[in-house]
Amino acid sequence: MNLIEELCRASGVSGFEKDVASVMKKQLQESCEKVEEDSFGNVIARKGKGEKKIMLAAHMDEIGLMVKHINEKGFISFIKIGGIDDRILLNQRVIIKSREGDVPGIIGSKPPHLQKDDERKKVIKHGDMFIDIGAKDRKDADKKIAVGDPILFEANYGSLNKKLFYGKAIDNRIGCYVMLKVMEKLPRDIKSTIYAVATAQEEVGLKGARVSAFKLEPDYAFAIDTTIAGDTPQIKENESDLKVGEGPAITITEASGRGVVTHPKLRDLLIKTAKKHKIPYQVDVLEGGMTDAAIIYMTRAGVPSGVISIPCRYIHSSSGVFSIDDVNNSIKLLVNALKEFK
Ligand SMILES: [Zn+2]
Repeated sequence: MNLIEELCRASGVSGFEKDVASVMKKQLQESCEKVEEDSFGNVIARKGKGEKKIMLAAHMDEIGLMVKHINEKGFISFIKIGGIDDRILLNQRVIIKSREGDVPGIIGSKPPHLQKDDERKKVIKHGDMFIDIGAKDRKDADKKIAVGDPILFEANYGSLNKKLFYGKAIDNRIGCYVMLKVMEKLPRDIKSTIYAVATAQEEVGLKGARVSAFKLEPDYAFAIDTTIAGDTPQIKENESDLKVGEGPAITITEASGRGVVTHPKLRDLLIKTAKKHKIPYQVDVLEGGMTDAAIIYMTRAGVPSGVISIPCRYIHSSSGVFSIDDVNNSIKLLVNALKEFK
């Protein structure tokens, strides 16, 4: 299993990142001088001794669900953790992370044969769905799972062709991978101090980035994340013109300005570095969605921040699609940009 696959298969619903955190920790220990886990669950690694502190943030948590209620027949009601479209949930295979171990389940629905005409037209809300774990009744279900257990999409990873790969939790395990590789490739005598932070609980309010940026007080920061590729049917060009495989996206602003507004100095640095090293890149202007940079840049008296993201299809679903070229180019772009800080 390669490292990207290992990261995608690791589990880490927001607030329950222990499994993926251990993968991050192990990898960072090989490339960095100091690695620690803070009380929030962020993994923080340091490399270099320069005066200026630069923070890299890649969130390691993933969207998921949580057990809310178990009914008398042993079927499970759930809530959503993070932004999920109800329409992608039906008939997904899921894993409930219980104290007893992994419990497989299927999000059930009523077969089309039994649906009335008006039922067919309606979007079924997640509150009306249930998870079937094959339990006989509530007592039987109670033996395996408990209210409050986190639930993930069943792990999957594979390729569509030589360049395009898919997997669970692509958002943001490929960002985590980029950060790991950047830390590996940076020279030990780099002229600044680089902090790599695998952040917890991004999908539920950018929380890990908030507390870790406060602690580190960086001079500059870069978030590494995924963004929405617009190269599939149903997405108009003017909604997203980013294409998978055409280079990392350099964000100008997120959430119509409510997220990060990239500092012009960092924006220019990234674009100049890309041109200098002939790295393809795309410019991302986001109407919705935010990254860790949105909170880091408002920390204390303000931290000039930017975002590099990897265009991804079917973001926030059970299988996202990305191009390995964009991943490799993101690593190249960041390594070279970081070397520019004197
Ligand atoms: Zn993300």
